[in-house]
Amino acid sequence: MKLSLTVVPSPREAQVGTEPPPSVQLSEPMRRFQCNQKGCCCSGWDIPFRLEDFLRLHDRLPESERGTLTHGLKLVLEQGKTPEGEQVLHSMKLDGAGDDRACRFLESEGGCNVHARFGLSALPDLCVDFPAFGYRHDDGRVELWFDPVCPEVIEQLGESDAPLRLFQQQGFFGDPGLDLRVQHTSDRIGARLGQYTVPAAALDQIRAASVAAFAVDRPPWQTLSALLHAFRRLHLDDASAFEFSAFEFPAFEVTAPEDPRPFVGFLADCIAAHGPDLLAASLIRYQRFIWSIDPKPLVGSPVLADHLRDWQPAFAQWLAPQEDALRPLQARWMAHRFGTPMVKGRGDLREAADSMVHLYGTSLRIAAAMGAVLQRPVDREMYKAAIGASEFFYRSLHLPRESLPWFAASRE
Ligand code: SF4
Repeated sequence: MKLSLTVVPSPREAQVGTEPPPSVQLSEPMRRFQCNQKGCCCSGWDIPFRLEDFLRLHDRLPESERGTLTHGLKLVLEQGKTPEGEQVLHSMKLDGAGDDRACRFLESEGGCNVHARFGLSALPDLCVDFPAFGYRHDDGRVELWFDPVCPEVIEQLGESDAPLRLFQQQGFFGDPGLDLRVQHTSDRIGARLGQYTVPAAALDQIRAASVAAFAVDRPPWQTLSALLHAFRRLHLDDASAFEFSAFEFPAFEVTAPEDPRPFVGFLADCIAAHGPDLLAASLIRYQRFIWSIDPKPLVGSPVLADHLRDWQPAFAQWLAPQEDALRPLQARWMAHRFGTPMVKGRGDLREAADSMVHLYGTSLRIAAAMGAVLQRPVDREMYKAAIGASEFFYRSLHLPRESLPWFAASRE
């Protein structure tokens, strides 16, 4: 079939530019983020290229290689047509190679052939940006959120035991990796409380208070308990919501609840929420991201699902005694999660807070089972793998809302 393409600038390019932003906020350890060049995210799916990515790459490749670029190319069209009756191209997917559907530019030792030959700027935007997702405020301020599904993000979180801080850069960094991510950012940041938009200043305040809460030296579940009670109290009735502004927004006070039992029950429900077979299958799929420990004895174990099913004894024997050793990493992970945008687009703030506890609970369940399979106490390196696996679990499955426990969001 013959196809004709009309290339028009995408809406994103109309919005973003090369002007330095007023500021860029990110979690402080991510200033030092570098891809591990092990190719974890370059296989397992057909990488979507935008037309601009494809044309740029086409221009960089020598004449002799251009012809093969279009082999195995799938065009993904946007749903529906324009008012003029034209079909709009959403992205292009290059068929992956081999059983694990690896990107055709992935080298056998894990590096990227395009990056090595033509530099960062030749890569598809997706490859430049991942694992960061950028958000832009109306006033041009940018936030970069680094996704802890990436093992190198977890390594950065584990680089120190000090409380995690947020960092604000004025203008560009002078680091092409970070600056290109900033330039690509066009998605808007925002959050809802029920049907009401949370003012940007209130969102900033809530996130700063959440990060500060994790700097207090106490078990992370106690911080989560205090935080979730604070999120639960964030409630607007229709009358107060009608007039609220950044200054009238309900107070966000992080104080330990008089009775922690309701939260403890919620956390227990989060830990127990999922079927062992589903968790085991997800961990097996995540193995290509695990570098902090050898994943083979875990994913090849016939008793993995058993220990995920009967997690309580594993929890008591292999995880609970390690609480103090794991506390700094857990607190830094959760501070990173609560401090960076937290919600995508216009997500509900209280649901986002509950979702952090879903992640935390699932990481405990997975870590305990890992300890039981490997017959050793859960140390930091094992827990890093459990963090990534729990992030991957929620990222790759779209679990129905009604199948999950809720605490701060339970009013809805
Ligand atoms: S182009 Fe390079 S970075 Fe992107 S998916 Fe392929 S190998 Fe990975």
